[in-house]
Amino acid sequence: MLSEPPKRVAIIGAGLSGLVFALALKRHGISSTVYELRTPDVTSAGALMLSPNALRILDKLGLYERLKTLGYNFEDMSFRNHDQEITDTYYLGQEKHYGYKALRIYRQVLVTELRAAAKNQGIPIYYGLKFSHVVSEDEKGVVFAFSDGTTFGSADILIGADGMHSKVRKHIAPDVAPKYSGVCAISCAAETSKIKFPDGMDLSTYVMPTAIYSKPGAWIMAPQDVDGSECLAGTQRAYPEQDRAGWDRLLADRDSLLELFRTGYEDWPEITQSVLDNVRKETMQIWPYYVVPTLSGWYSREKHVIILGDAAHAIPPTAGQGASQGFEDSFTLAALLPRMADGLPLDRVLEYWQNYRQKRIDKVMELTLQLNNSRLPQAEREKLIAEGQTWQSGSHGELAWLYNAQIEDDVLAWAEAETKKTKKTKKNTCPFKRI
Ligand SMILES: Cc1cc2nc3c(=O)[nH]c(=O)nc-3n(C[C@H](O)[C@H](O)[C@H](O)COP(=O)(O)OP(=O)(O)OC[C@H]3O[C@@H](n4cnc5c(N)ncnc54)[C@H](O)[C@@H]3O)c2cc1C
Repeated sequence: MLSEPPKRVAIIGAGLSGLVFALALKRHGISSTVYELRTPDVTSAGALMLSPNALRILDKLGLYERLKTLGYNFEDMSFRNHDQEITDTYYLGQEKHYGYKALRIYRQVLVTELRAAAKNQGIPIYYGLKFSHVVSEDEKGVVFAFSDGTTFGSADILIGADGMHSKVRKHIAPDVAPKYSGVCAISCAAETSKIKFPDGMDLSTYVMPTAIYSKPGAWIMAPQDVDGSECLAGTQRAYPEQDRAGWDRLLADRDSLLELFRTGYEDWPEITQSVLDNVRKETMQIWPYYVVPTLSGWYSREKHVIILGDAAHAIPPTAGQGASQGFEDSFTLAALLPRMADGLPLDRVLEYWQNYRQKRIDKVMELTLQLNNSRLPQAEREKLIAEGQTWQSGSHGELAWLYNAQIEDDVLAWAEAETKKTKKTKKNTCPFKRI
């Protein structure tokens, strides 16, 4: 097993977690090489919400000040009933309590910025290379292959940041597959100027993002351009599981998809109907919610292959924490690996890191389920409200455990204490007598 910080680190996936890991590792003076399946001209659609815990990490990487000018900054998400009365508020960010507003930013913009930062820092990214499998792993490191059959790589540590359908995970947990939750989100990008806000309100007076709870379920609207001129709008539906081709067909058949999107039209409030009346079919997206079941290990037996981000724990989107949790994985592991220089064994580092991360993921999952229950159709929702299984906001700053956690300090404090313990044990087991 590796006994000092890795010198050769390979990362599979130039997505959000992989890039943040490469940048965070570089901050500690360790270089890495990134391999990405897609070519740089392949762009991704849609926008992401980033909360203070993610923004603090981007800030420490020196990226936040620029990123915040490239997206829509806001604090709370209002929950409304059918009659548009605000019934609750959920803070996705809040400067006063959590240090940052939330940021909604196009995924493509974020990825482009992270890739540019990697380039500036001399982190090589090889595009158009699809990781296939681990060829061998022993105390010297890991050899891996790409699917063209002729390209191979080797590293001290191989990081799988290759998303929910991770191929690297196959080496660690070959039988684990993402599980479909039975729910699929359908959304479109609406022009804010075409939305019929109630009582002559507009973007400045109608608090958004918002979740409108009505008979068919929850209708979400979230501004996503810097000036809020475009808005994600959509809902989620129970839908049978499809294979990859089936999901592609559902998305490709825009007329049938629009029909599905419009189901229950008459039960939605006027504001929702105004969006459904103006859907630009080419902006429609589907998002079937898959979850990666809790894994017993995020690393291989020999400890040279590690997974993080969606590859380790893809979660439903309701708390807006998917990417943020990947950032946390990356940032904490990148802080811990250099501590091996103080004599910390890799197996202790990985065991601690996985437990620390899994505990937070479990809490985020609990929150996600509560928020998710609030989005169910009225009849199911009311039953769960009675059972106390839906989100109800309480005191100010109640999300501090999530947004204000000082994760780097936590893991470094553990590393320091553990190093002292390890050194003491070594001293006590020294076979020679001190004279
Ligand atoms: C529609 C939608 C909206 C979302 N909204 C939010 C939100 O508002 N807030 C939030 O926090 N999260 C959100 N998420 C979740 C978030 O996008 C994910 O949690 C996040 O992207 C995970 O990052 P990742 O880097 O771990 O995986 P990914 O982003 O999936 O990146 C994996 C990368 O690996 C590459 N790759 C895959 N296989 C291979 C291979 N074999 N070889 C080489 N490269 C490979 C892929 O091309 C990709 O670049 C959303 C997700 C979706 C689908």
